[in-house]
Amino acid sequence: MMNKRIHAKYFSRFLNLLPHRLSCHDSTRATIAFFSVSGIDVLDSLDLISEQSKQNIIEWIYGLQVIPKEGNVKCGGFQGCTALNLLDPPENCSTDNYKWGHLAMTYTCIAILVILGDDLSRLDRKAIVDGVKSVQKPDGSFSASIEGNEFDMRFVYCACCICYMINDWGDVDKELMGRYILSSIRYDGGVSQHVENESHGGTTFCALAALQLSDQMHLLTSKQLEKVKRWLLFRQDGGFQGRPNKPIDTCYSFWIGSALKIIDAFELSNFKENREYILSCQDIVVGGFSKWSGTTSDPFHTYFGLCGLSFLREPGLLDVMPSLNISMRAYERLKSIHKVWDLNSQMEVQLNIE
Ligand SMILES: [Zn+2]
Repeated sequence: MMNKRIHAKYFSRFLNLLPHRLSCHDSTRATIAFFSVSGIDVLDSLDLISEQSKQNIIEWIYGLQVIPKEGNVKCGGFQGCTALNLLDPPENCSTDNYKWGHLAMTYTCIAILVILGDDLSRLDRKAIVDGVKSVQKPDGSFSASIEGNEFDMRFVYCACCICYMINDWGDVDKELMGRYILSSIRYDGGVSQHVENESHGGTTFCALAALQLSDQMHLLTSKQLEKVKRWLLFRQDGGFQGRPNKPIDTCYSFWIGSALKIIDAFELSNFKENREYILSCQDIVVGGFSKWSGTTSDPFHTYFGLCGLSFLREPGLLDVMPSLNISMRAYERLKSIHKVWDLNSQMEVQLNIE
């Protein structure tokens, strides 16, 4: 059985104080907050976070937003922590030039705001979408930030989540991005992190979710869909592995499970074996899930293990929206925010006509 309360408490601890061994992750602290907040949400236990704490988290998140000053319009988005604000900027670099958004942090920060019930009214949506456009590469992929030298499918996915959530694709070239995704499909049917690399479960999820969020699933032929379905289903060996001949790992119950959900083929997997593997990685003393049975749990594998169990309709868990990777309840909240934005812009148009 799954012990819901112990996992919710596990996440709460990460929201209050991070252990020393996680200090090296300080620059990506927003993602740890995301796993904790979204995990507590999937556990349907948001009442464990007091209203005051929710407000404190929302204020902390808005404090991570980079509001570009004139002449530096490419740096919109969110940073992962405030530590950079305390450092002395390098020579010949003003403090403002030293701050820029990071796609993974921007995606997780906006998701946290939605989950905690914020109305997103303080987002600088124009700066965010300009920031996303500024890191799109000539091959259609994205890097994490303006100084980033890695550009691949992970950041294609983050870019799509951001544009979808702020309901604005600005000058992002979706067609070029679609071509990049198609060029990363491999001979075996899976999708690689970057053109010509090996097929991988995480990046196959990123590619399919990006196509769905950008409304471009039609780019896949029925033959490509059949091949990717086969590749994904063959990753099950009890739990799921990320690549052929690799050990199974809890988080792939999400990456592969979610990819199968997006192409409507999850029901073809073995629910019983998947569930048994995830539950075997549960720490029943301190809470959380690990990647392998008997090893130390961490927020990343705890979150994705719970999402994997949610796909298996585990009692007590909220449904998870596969491509955005948040609860369906948070997703519905996001749709209602979009409706308000649509109404406001319609009213603006009407006022302009009058
Ligand atoms: Zn893993």
